[in-house]
Amino acid sequence: MGGLLLTLKNLFLPIFCKACGERLLTEENGFFCPDCWDLSPRIARPFCTLCGRPHKGAVGFGTQSNFPCALCRALPQKKRPARRIAGAAYYDGPIGEAIRLFKFQGRPALAGPLGETLTEFALRELTLAAYDALAPVPLFRTRERERGYNQSALLAREVQPHMPGAEYSEALKRHRPTRAQSQLKTPEERRKNVSGAFSMADDHGLEGKTVLLVDDVVTTGGTVMECARVLRRAGAAVVDVLAVALAVKVPGAPAPRRT
Ligand SMILES: [Zn+2]
Ligand SMILES: [Zn+2]
Repeated sequence: MGGLLLTLKNLFLPIFCKACGERLLTEENGFFCPDCWDLSPRIARPFCTLCGRPHKGAVGFGTQSNFPCALCRALPQKKRPARRIAGAAYYDGPIGEAIRLFKFQGRPALAGPLGETLTEFALRELTLAAYDALAPVPLFRTRERERGYNQSALLAREVQPHMPGAEYSEALKRHRPTRAQSQLKTPEERRKNVSGAFSMADDHGLEGKTVLLVDDVVTTGGTVMECARVLRRAGAAVVDVLAVALAVKVPGAPAPRRT
């Protein structure tokens, strides 16, 4: 929205930071003031190079190098179709709230600030030039029609300008509706929910490619791992996952919300 138009709109329909209540002059940070946005907890080093979870207690050693966690090291390679999962922030605070507004309240403009958070992290922690392709986690078509957009696709489009050598691919499809993984209790239910839900377009062209798969939030990892499995089965050489947020516990905070 143009500056003047926004100012006029704001005069009659003022907007306030959803975290601290301070009046905002622009919508740039997506309904949060810059201070609150900056305070939203980010995932900082050291974190696991495979699942992206921050290392508990390792901070005290002052190490800035990432390394795999014990859980990931114990998991056989074939159980990890994605080489790694990396997330920029905790699914908490203003960023968590922004993701919920973005996904469930029809606020596509939040792709801007969320995409910026994602891109900053990706530029710092990933080698973006190493990817041949960029792909969003797909939505089922009726869901996408209802929402008007696929939030993961909007996020992937925000990272895309930093990956000039990568092809943007929507060859991965969700061909049946699935329930939110976070609403399912057992690993078995979650596995069944996403198993066989994704497929590849015939002319995908991703054989031998190194693919960066983009999602908004990784909760249990079931969805992105299933997507990675389908991509790998179709011939992709490597799949890495990049998300705005991981639903992991913020140090010293109660357990994360999972919806
Ligand atoms: Zn604020
Ligand atoms: Zn790990």
